[in-house]
Amino acid sequence: MAFDFDLFVIGGGSGGVRCARIAATHGARVAVAESRHWGGTCVNLGCVPKKMMVQASEYGEHALDGRGFGWSSEPGTHDWARLIAAKDHEIGRLNAIYVRLLGNAGVTLFEGRARFEDAHTLVLEPGPLDPEFEPRRITARRIVIATGSTPVVQPHIEGYEFGINSDQAFHLPERPERVTIVGGGYIGVEFAGIFAGLGSEVQMIFRQKLPLRGFDEDLRHALAEAIEARGITAHPNSLLHGIRRLDGDQHGALQVRLTDGREWATDCVFFAVGRMPNVAGLGLDATGVRTTAEGRILVDAGSETHEPGIFAIGDVTNRVNLTPVAIAEGHILADRLFGGVTREWSFDTIPKAVFFSPPLASVGLTEHEAAEQGPADIYLARFTPMRHTLSGRKRHSVMKLVVDQASSRVVGVHMLGEDAPEMMQGMAIAVSAGLTKADFDRTIGIHPTSAEEFVTMRARTRMAAVAE
Ligand code: FAD
Repeated sequence: MAFDFDLFVIGGGSGGVRCARIAATHGARVAVAESRHWGGTCVNLGCVPKKMMVQASEYGEHALDGRGFGWSSEPGTHDWARLIAAKDHEIGRLNAIYVRLLGNAGVTLFEGRARFEDAHTLVLEPGPLDPEFEPRRITARRIVIATGSTPVVQPHIEGYEFGINSDQAFHLPERPERVTIVGGGYIGVEFAGIFAGLGSEVQMIFRQKLPLRGFDEDLRHALAEAIEARGITAHPNSLLHGIRRLDGDQHGALQVRLTDGREWATDCVFFAVGRMPNVAGLGLDATGVRTTAEGRILVDAGSETHEPGIFAIGDVTNRVNLTPVAIAEGHILADRLFGGVTREWSFDTIPKAVFFSPPLASVGLTEHEAAEQGPADIYLARFTPMRHTLSGRKRHSVMKLVVDQASSRVVGVHMLGEDAPEMMQGMAIAVSAGLTKADFDRTIGIHPTSAEEFVTMRARTRMAAVAE
């Protein structure tokens, strides 16, 4: 059978764009459909606008901190609308770059929504990106599902419809004075920092004792302290019971109630309670593609679904939901299918960062994970970074190495403190390369930096082991 394309990619986000572009450079006839925004979540409603807003939220503190260095600076007032307009302008530029990159690689672009009619046929229909899009039917030998994910809604919470999620937070007409964040994952933590830094009164509700489940415990404790130091009120071990509109409040204020009866008034309830794969309306029933109960597309190690010739990459597979992972999965797949190239990436040492102020970042095993595999040596440093000896701000850095005793390899590196994400990229190379503590010890530091701490930790803080 003759197909219209060798490869059709559904979704022009991080994973889809990379997969399409690399496949086209290998000579394949490739098309991509994008229904909402080129560049996907990362560019439009994720990493990029989020980091710009984190940066915006830090200038007030910088102005205050400058006083300790002799400046007579004041934070002044923040213009939310100007920030949102500047962010949107930059995102518009990035959208155009994505379109150009794909076009230059010879990829055919469709600004429509795709759904399966059968395993090799897609129907394209109008979506938000181009409501005038002319529907059509397209066939392809191979199809990649790269449709990403979307924020989870909690319809079981009374009044959930009064809340917003991260998608809406990027386009609020004005900054709410009082924000209640529901969820202690990285998106909740980052937005708590953004709103607090811009001047909002922030409360955080999360289920666990500490925020950021899955991160190293020392970092989670340090983050809990940093959250408090930023004036954010945390409600750990707490569950939201419901939201209602306050009667007669002209500003549309809301009342939040926890299951233990505590309640308070707020202007905005922000749900950051997870994300779910975008599979609704994709027509997967017309194929042999299988999903988990939550809709996560099941794939093998080669990203192939249960339907031969249909692949899935990125957040829709819910493996590790990060942009560089989606990109790597897309690149590997395109190389393998059309370039005959076997490319390898270290998926077991994926570094991650949380852009709070101060940020935190990690690579490799937590202390607990390492101890489960065998005895581990823990090196821990906690100090006030030089900037804050003069700024007077109560801010600590925490740096930690987790070393497997049997091999002496550094299997985990964790940090909360300024520039942690920038440092962690280099640390990830060291951990992926399997370097030992001795390799760290013989590396000369850069002075005066916080980073030098990673190569000057001589005395073991403790040993970690799981009791037999
Ligand atoms: P996406 O980028 O979501 O792309 C999927 C695309 O498919 C979308 O554009 C969608 O419109 C389109 N689509 C869906 N269905 C169809 C259809 N039927 N037809 C046509 N098109 C369709 N990751 C990091 O690495 N670092 C960060 O700092 C970071 N911060 C984040 C902050 C927030 C608030 C959020 C929400 C996410 C963040 N992420 C971050 C995660 C990152 O954005 C995702 O992991 C990444 O975008 C996944 O890429 P993807 O290609 O799988 O999906």
